[in-house]
Order: sequence, then C-alpha cells, then structure tokens
Amino acid sequence: MLVVMDNTATPEMVERVREEITRMGLSAHPLTDRNRTAIGVTGYNGNVAVERLRTLDGVREVIRYGDRYHLVSREHQPEDTIVTLDDIVIGGDHFPVLAGPCSIESRDQAFRIAEIVAEEGVRVFRGGAFKPRTSPYSFQGLGEAGLEILAEVREQFNLRIVTEAMDTESIELVAETADIIQIGSRNMQNYSLLKKAGKLRKPVLLKRGMAATVQEFLLAAEYILDGGNAEVILCERGIRMVANRPGNMLDLASIIDLTRLSHLPVLADPSHASEERSKVAPLSRAALAVGANGLLVEVHHEPGQALSDGAQALTPDGFREMMTELRRLAVALNKEFV
Ligand code: PEP
Ligand code: MN
Repeated sequence: MLVVMDNTATPEMVERVREEITRMGLSAHPLTDRNRTAIGVTGYNGNVAVERLRTLDGVREVIRYGDRYHLVSREHQPEDTIVTLDDIVIGGDHFPVLAGPCSIESRDQAFRIAEIVAEEGVRVFRGGAFKPRTSPYSFQGLGEAGLEILAEVREQFNLRIVTEAMDTESIELVAETADIIQIGSRNMQNYSLLKKAGKLRKPVLLKRGMAATVQEFLLAAEYILDGGNAEVILCERGIRMVANRPGNMLDLASIIDLTRLSHLPVLADPSHASEERSKVAPLSRAALAVGANGLLVEVHHEPGQALSDGAQALTPDGFREMMTELRRLAVALNKEFV
C-alpha cells in the first residue's frame, strides 16, 4: 500500500501519518522527492481500517494493492484456464458458440431451437428457467419446470446446458441441471451468490455487471476462485451508454483487457450488448477478431412470439448465416470453431 501526500503537506503532517501507520501495527517507509512525499506501507493484510488514513490532513490518495485481484490474474497463472465439458473446450484457441433462447418458454419451443442450434454444431444450449426481469410484470421464467425441460434437451440433443441461478436459495437446484451455472449481470456483485458458486464444483459463467469496471468484474470472479472453484468463464455483455441510442455498448476493449489481465476464458454476448438482432452478427465477428474465447447468443425460432428479448434473438436463418461467416473468419484467425 502507498499513501501519497499532497505536495503542500508539511513535515508534521507526514509525521502524523507515519505515526498512525505504526499505531496500526504496520511499517511506514517514507519516500521523498523534490515535490512530494509518499509513504510505502508494508505488513498490510486487509485487516485494519486503512480508510482512516485518507482522512488525515495532507493525504492525497491511498493506493491499496491489496484490493487487487490475485487468483484470476495472469501474474498468478500465466497459462490460459481451459474449461472442459467432456470434449467441449472453452478457452485457449477454441471458439465455442453457446446458443439458445433467452428464456425457456415451453418444451416445444426449447426443442425446436435446440434442433436448429445443434445442426450448426453448437454443443452448449443456453436458456433461462429463472429470469431476472427489469419489470415484475414481465415473464419471470418457468422456474423448476424450465429446468426439467432443459434436462430433456440435454438428453434428446446431446447438448450441455448453461442456465442462470438467480439467488442463493436456488443455486443448488439449478446446479443439478446446469452443466454451466450462469450468474447474470444484475448479480455480478451479489457476494453471497458468488461465495456459494465458489463452493460448487461446476463451471460458472459470470456476466459483467452493466455498470461494472473491469477491476470490479475481475474481483467478482476472484470471489468464486477464492471459494475453491477455479472453473470460471467471464462474459462481456455490454455496458450502459451515455449516448442516446437504444441498447448497451459491447465493450470490445474490455475483452482485450480481460484476456491480457486474466487467464480465464472470456466470452462475448452480442445479444444483450446490442438488444437488436441486426447488430448481433457484426458484433460477433468483432468479438472473434479482438480475441474473445467464444460467444453466448440468443436464438428463437419465432422471435416475434418470444416471451423475453425477442428483438435481439436471431432467426434460424440469421443464426445459420452468422455461423457460416464466423466459421470462415475463425479459419483466418487460427481459431478452433465450435
Ligand atoms: C440472459 O443471459 O438472458 C441475461 C439475463 O443476461 P444479462 O444478465 O447479461 O442481462
Ligand atoms: Mn436475454
């Protein structure tokens, strides 16, 4: 940790900060140049209220390295984490596409969409049974009945399942059906849920909060790894914009940052990022080009009838076209597609 003093701080102020650091049981190492003093602090293990230092006269900034993520970082593990489900590979040079509807609406709907995506080589089927909806009056998902349909999809089409766990009460139930447990954008900082996911032995797909920084996203993932579950897949799903246009913004630069800073696989979700069908394929190509490790995409056989997120769902033809384009691009980029 480093306490940076104002350049107007007096020697008495520096001394007062030094005393306070010592009083906390830590060691202070003042470093002074012509303009200002910074005090290096050693012995900090996160257990003392160093926030107090910030309130002392003459203190400009307290930089806590202890707040940084560790387990998720490339410093801790230089090589890529590869999450495998049988012969399905997520991470490294592979580019899997995880696809399906936003919500499971009925057995017929799930089966029809599963057939369409499986024909294109998809191995992991997405679909929410428990849905976090902005409005309490919107379709909330089929709940347990939706999980039962997903279990049938797995059997019938030999697909693996990614589905969302919304709370600590239902995560174990969801984990019985899910091959990958999704933690949604709205829950990225639900620390009880993250801790519980850390205790499970199932891969977790963690979506970036819609207003979260890359640092906050990585720290959320750190909770899961710290709990003992190393199989975490990150997913950039678009962040809120200031500009006056609909949808979120797919933060392509964050995909570059995340893949550099962390060894965890990073997927892109172009559906929630754009909220608009016509942008899904171009954003998918962009995500592949900047180094994403795969996609999470929404597809519906009749988007106009979808009970959630119909406007961003690819039609069957749109999905096939996108897959054809991505397949070609993946060859050029030396990626193992789907
Ligand atoms: C979803 O994947 O359907 C979903 C609700 O996503 P997000 O948490 O990114 O909004
Ligand atoms: Mn959705």
